[in-house]
Amino acid sequence: MVNCQNLCQVKIDLIKFFRNNVSVKLKYFYIILIFIISILLSCVAYNSVEKDIQNKTESTETGKAAGNESSVEPEGLSILKEAYPDIDFTASYDEEMNDWKILIDTGTRSGELYWCGGRFLPADKLADKDSYWKLFYKYSEEIPDPADFSPEEVERIRKFSSPENRREGASSPQFFYDLIYDCESRRAVEQHIIQISFLGKRSNVHERIKEPLAVIEKQILEAAKTDEEVKNFVDTLSRADSYNWREISDSGNRSFHSMGIAVDVLPRGWGQKNIYWAWRRDIDPENWMLLPLDRRWMPPRQVIRIFENNGFIWGGKWMIWDNMHFEYRPEVILYSKILNAAPEK
Ligand SMILES: [Zn+2]
Repeated sequence: MVNCQNLCQVKIDLIKFFRNNVSVKLKYFYIILIFIISILLSCVAYNSVEKDIQNKTESTETGKAAGNESSVEPEGLSILKEAYPDIDFTASYDEEMNDWKILIDTGTRSGELYWCGGRFLPADKLADKDSYWKLFYKYSEEIPDPADFSPEEVERIRKFSSPENRREGASSPQFFYDLIYDCESRRAVEQHIIQISFLGKRSNVHERIKEPLAVIEKQILEAAKTDEEVKNFVDTLSRADSYNWREISDSGNRSFHSMGIAVDVLPRGWGQKNIYWAWRRDIDPENWMLLPLDRRWMPPRQVIRIFENNGFIWGGKWMIWDNMHFEYRPEVILYSKILNAAPEK
């Protein structure tokens, strides 16, 4: 490309050449000629540089448009569409709020929430987004083994489970669930609570999880025919508790039991084993998280797998373990499946 530095060099070289090789009159003639030529070349160079800047700007703008967040729906939305196939999710970009607005329509209720990195917040909570977790998180494939915990991880669990953090830390983004389960108030949600029989035990659940629980029951009973451990689980089950309007212990968060979409499976006597982190914390306040897995009661692996295959996560895989607890979170199961299938970077 022609540039100013090259032009100056050419000019100097030509002047030197003519100074040494031609007569005085001609020298003046050539100097004027060189001057005119250099002006012409400068114009060409200027046009060329200007065009180059223009091209770069255009390509930057085109690139921006192609990669602009406003042109592609948030990726996680397809996970929600798959997790809740009977619910309509319509996304439109809100230029003013600079975020996706998601219209959620269950057929009987509808509402709009902002995507906000997967938090699903109403407009008036957007400024306070750090106070809310995201709907999606990586649910572990394996049961985390405390034998593998580093001192830093233990410290992190201590902090996370501290009453201060549970009281004042971030909370679950309730708004999405309030909308799809109509559970903003006790009065509202109780219109959707129905009584079912699960493995021979009476349970009050949200009507939306009646179907998945029926499939789970069928599959567990089928497995019990050939698997002694599963048969023993069914035979010794004493309770399957679900709906209970309450807050999660130590925190202002509402439990998924308050929506009727979590089920606690309690066996008849769990012997010397431990079943819930906070009960163990009362005995061993410092090191409850290090309690070896074989000292915790667990449902059979096959039972955990059947629940997971039908959209439930198991509390035994949480750092603050709750081994009787299953919770209907199909979006978390699908999201984690995608993450776990992706090759490690
Ligand atoms: Zn529970």
